[in-house]
Amino acid sequence: MAAVIHVVGARPNFMKMAPLIRALRDAPGGFEHLLVHTGQHYDEHLNDAIFRDLELAAPDVHLGSGSGSHAEQTARIMVAFEALVRDRAPQLVVVAGDVNSTLACSIVAAKANVPVAHLEAGLRSGDWAMPEEINRVVTDRLSQLHLTPSADADANLLREGASPQGIVRVGNCMIDSLLRNRERAQRGPALSHFGLRAGNFGLVTLHRPSNVDDPGRLRHFLRVLSDLAARLPLVFPVHPRTRARIAALEISEAALSAAGLQLAPPLGYLDFLQLESAAAIVVTDSGGVQEETTALGVPCLTVRDNTERPITVTHGTNPLVGSDPAPPPVGDQDETIPVELAGVTRFITRSQIRYAQAQGDYARLHTPAGSHLVRIPLSTLEERWAAAGFVRIHRSTLVSLRHVKEVRMEHGRCSVVLDEVELQVSRRHTRELRDRLLRPNRPAE
Ligand code: UDP
Repeated sequence: MAAVIHVVGARPNFMKMAPLIRALRDAPGGFEHLLVHTGQHYDEHLNDAIFRDLELAAPDVHLGSGSGSHAEQTARIMVAFEALVRDRAPQLVVVAGDVNSTLACSIVAAKANVPVAHLEAGLRSGDWAMPEEINRVVTDRLSQLHLTPSADADANLLREGASPQGIVRVGNCMIDSLLRNRERAQRGPALSHFGLRAGNFGLVTLHRPSNVDDPGRLRHFLRVLSDLAARLPLVFPVHPRTRARIAALEISEAALSAAGLQLAPPLGYLDFLQLESAAAIVVTDSGGVQEETTALGVPCLTVRDNTERPITVTHGTNPLVGSDPAPPPVGDQDETIPVELAGVTRFITRSQIRYAQAQGDYARLHTPAGSHLVRIPLSTLEERWAAAGFVRIHRSTLVSLRHVKEVRMEHGRCSVVLDEVELQVSRRHTRELRDRLLRPNRPAE
């Protein structure tokens, strides 16, 4: 009889589950446990290489589910896992993350009355168009034990009515794996293999269906990346899903490589960690890579409109640049900014913000609905928002021109009126404000 079944199915599960399996294996008295691989990811680059690098023992059982539509894959995993649960009668099923295997096995376990523990519970993007969000929410609803990475995850679960006794904040297991393997990764061959110097290249990963499944969007991404590669060499380990989509576009790899965009198969974990630690910048839509770059202090641009990991934006190195690869039209980019209100992370859009003021190292954003403190320095906001009509009117204040009702000049002093608020403009910034208002950024006629 297996006391605990650990389920893994796809690449990011392995990094999360490895520290937990190791801790249980080394626990006094030991644990009887079975590692089950559903076969959701079957490509050698996404499996064996990563298992080797993580020093994970090979799975005890392989369900061989393979790919297919969401329903086909989830159903195949459920059928195979149900037979296994019947056969092995586990006392606990541990699932990780947000992939189809996570969902499929928690449904099976819950219906067999076997308690479920969810590792990385409580993350929410609020975006129901993401299959991962559906997997997370349903899995959490079915789990008795929520192993959470961060305070925002605890707050999300409590808000949804989870029992506080079932929430245990264990921290971020993916980062535990990173810390354990970072030094080993530094000694690896990846930098020299790609002919790169630390700090002198960018690293790209893209695999979310919303980014790669639409041919026009993917073509545009490749064009934007090739433009960027003209300034900074880029290495792009390509996920099998993305590789199939690029192949369908009939764009030659040689042409991309000539532009400085080097495509490669998905890398082993240690090779990827070495490049990630040494990159000048990372461009990604991966959840795990957002967290790893934050832990490493490497700037990361996340090509998504939202994130279930807001801590990487508020405390980390990870601005969301949106999923539109085109440069934003002037004044029309509506970035979402995570703010923490009474311990709960909410998102406000930039168009709601009337003005932002420095508060220590952070900024306070003023919206018609109230004010919110965000962990972003004012100077960063200015750089990011200048094209969208924000202008500095004082050392400590940026205003959105779209909210300015009136500009007053009295006795040589300038002020701006925003709804019921009137703000003084410093002498130093008066000229800039006048210039911006008299010569708005219009396209040439
Ligand atoms: N990763 C890897 N090789 C690569 C790209 C990523 O080993 O070529 C690792 C990365 O370090 C992180 C994990 O894969 O630990 C992230 O997985 P993925 O991006 O597939 O999934 P997500 O985090 O988006 O669910």
